[in-house]
Amino acid sequence: TESFSRRPMWAQVDLDAAAYNMQHIRRFVGAHTLIMAVVKADAYGCGAVAMARVFLQNGADQLAVACLDEAVELRRAGITAPILVLGHTDGRRAAEVVGYHIDVAVFHYDDAVLFSQEAERTQQTVRFHIAVDSGMGRIGYKLSERSVEEIKRIRALPCVMMEGIFTHFAVADDAADDACAYTKEQFFQFTQMYRWLWEEGVSFRFRHCDNSAGVLAYPAFFCNMVRPGIIQYGYNPFGAARHPEFVPHPVMSLRCCITHVKRLEEGETVGYGRRFRARRPTLVATLPLGYADGYTRLLSNRADVLVRGRRVPQIGNICMDQCMIDVTDIPDVRVGEECVLFGRQGNEYIGADELARIIGTIPHEVFCNIGRRVPRVYF
Ligand code: PLP
Repeated sequence: TESFSRRPMWAQVDLDAAAYNMQHIRRFVGAHTLIMAVVKADAYGCGAVAMARVFLQNGADQLAVACLDEAVELRRAGITAPILVLGHTDGRRAAEVVGYHIDVAVFHYDDAVLFSQEAERTQQTVRFHIAVDSGMGRIGYKLSERSVEEIKRIRALPCVMMEGIFTHFAVADDAADDACAYTKEQFFQFTQMYRWLWEEGVSFRFRHCDNSAGVLAYPAFFCNMVRPGIIQYGYNPFGAARHPEFVPHPVMSLRCCITHVKRLEEGETVGYGRRFRARRPTLVATLPLGYADGYTRLLSNRADVLVRGRRVPQIGNICMDQCMIDVTDIPDVRVGEECVLFGRQGNEYIGADELARIIGTIPHEVFCNIGRRVPRVYF
């Protein structure tokens, strides 16, 4: 990989896997459904600019981010595709919204007025996607006559385009009957809102609600655009067993090189809190990566690491910048050897979903936790 004049740890990002996943999503949704590739949170830690380019070259039509700063970063990198900010954008940032041609999620009349005024002042148009809260309980208009009235007033503002209307599912990744019923009810609320508005003369170019789980489990809800996130990065939100028709390729792996190897006598301990105690003479390797890099302390004494294509246990409390592994089974292990915290090595594989399960979270969080000081290496 890189020169080892700096800390030998990196997140490897497989651009071919990202391209494969997007091509697969494109085939899956067909030619007539637009794809808004979700690249928020620095593209789930993989690097927003690089991922946005790969996705756009391989079937995505638009991009979605969480906040205006993320959108501006993409524009400054020269990306010209439509970019929607999914979260709240304050109307006081209208100059950037209009100046950089960013689409905004709208659910407050007062913000809409400020965007419209800036667009009028600069003789441009600003594009809105109306956010609908159909049951996520987060942002957006709930289905009501009052909401319809307010959206009508937004539509009437000068220099505004009603580009889209969207909602977000709370339990699309849950296959239980009551969860399916909830998702269907959310979709009903969403389409009702859309219909009421249509009857009042307000229509939208794009309607979108399906996230990754929705793409896989609710093809009837594609509308004319979908918003996949995690499947682009290689994880099926239902786990590998379901939806065998789409097995995405993991994009990111976390790697480092051993910085030190030492032998412990029986009874000696490792790390803060002495949470590992050698029950036999033990060979310990130290890795230059810890919880500040996103290898969370919650994994202490619970995760495996790959060395020479074999699983070995992580031992002791994970430190801020280093952690230790038990390599007794690989007696000739050397400083400088490459280890894999998650990803593939030889025939073995540790998925980010495996680490997520250990600590009771989802792969999204494992990726987003990978710290800023971990270099991303693209290949
Ligand atoms: N749409 C919205 C509004 C989101 O907040 C997210 C991510 O949380 C997504 C789409 C993509 O979700 P996923 O990564 O589960 O596909």
